Amino acid sequence: MDHIEEIEKVKEGASILEKSSEFAIIIPEVHSNLVMALENAEKIEEVVGIPGRITNLNGMPKTVSSPDFLKTSHMARLALSMMKHDPSLRSAINIKYDPLILEICEKLGLKISSYDRTYEPEVVRKVEGGTIPWGVEEAIKKIDDIPDVIYHEGAWGKEPMICIVGTDAVELAEMAVCIARLYKVEKNSKVKVKPTIPSESNSVLFASSRKKWKDSKPIDGCIFCSIVDGNPEVKEKVLYNDGKNMVLMNLYPYNRGHLEVLPVKHYTDLNELSTEEIKDLFIIVQRTISLIRDVIKPDGINVGINLGEAAGASVDHLHIHIVPRFKYESGFMETTANTRVIEEDIDVMYSKFIEKLDILHFEESL
Ligand SMILES: [Zn+2]
Ligand SMILES: [Zn+2]
Repeated sequence: MDHIEEIEKVKEGASILEKSSEFAIIIPEVHSNLVMALENAEKIEEVVGIPGRITNLNGMPKTVSSPDFLKTSHMARLALSMMKHDPSLRSAINIKYDPLILEICEKLGLKISSYDRTYEPEVVRKVEGGTIPWGVEEAIKKIDDIPDVIYHEGAWGKEPMICIVGTDAVELAEMAVCIARLYKVEKNSKVKVKPTIPSESNSVLFASSRKKWKDSKPIDGCIFCSIVDGNPEVKEKVLYNDGKNMVLMNLYPYNRGHLEVLPVKHYTDLNELSTEEIKDLFIIVQRTISLIRDVIKPDGINVGINLGEAAGASVDHLHIHIVPRFKYESGFMETTANTRVIEEDIDVMYSKFIEKLDILHFEESL
């Protein structure tokens, strides 16, 4: 076959998906497909995809056949329907339905809409392949905008589904892997996205002079234990949780990219940990340092533990601050008590870290 850009893109996208064990977790029962239509395509035969779709084979995504032009495909119909509204939206992928995945999409700033298959008119249902074009129109009407994500919650005999649309199959595959990683992390830590509550509003390394976070402690008990327990009142940006140790973003950072590593167990002193626990904890500290170096590229890093209130600890659950430092700092991000770094900035940092999460899992990826 001649060199066709769309085939190359789908091939590259599929190989990105095939390397991600996380993506396997979000493949639906009906399997996934990744498609990309030719420019100005009008019919299914002008859309490239994986004819046999992408399945979950022993925990890894597996393309059942090579990319090719499709004969029938919901995702091809979806891309064609989107192109009627925005010709650049030539690519689509479907993943399993889970409200948590929708929350993650929202956090990533994707526009979400939906349609309800139970309201599908009889006349639409009778037409072969009529559901998707109808659903796309419904979803666009619903938010009066062109969504990045369209989902439906199923109907009699139909699995609920989330579809993501975009301009390029490679970008879409990367996005799907990013969503899958977040999904795995959030599912493991059982954290639900809810209104923000400060974790350590003034966690300042090696300084105890600032207003104590404890003065305005918003919930009972330990904030870090609440995260571990999956308290729905607590919103945290969890980057990693292996059941023994966690890596969180500090929502009130001392500097951009400030992370915290902590044992899941509520220790209050470094000397309570066994040799084995210290080893596991500091391996994660090392990886977190690598993650920060890769993503933030700081000139230096502070690694700090504050033991006791007098030493500046605002949460007594043992945690290690990993703070990127720069030769020329424009001043600390918090200059007054309880000044909060704008949330958008945290979200941007969060997605940058998420893209590089392999660094925290490097043993698995070898
Ligand atoms: Zn602290
Ligand atoms: Zn605790």
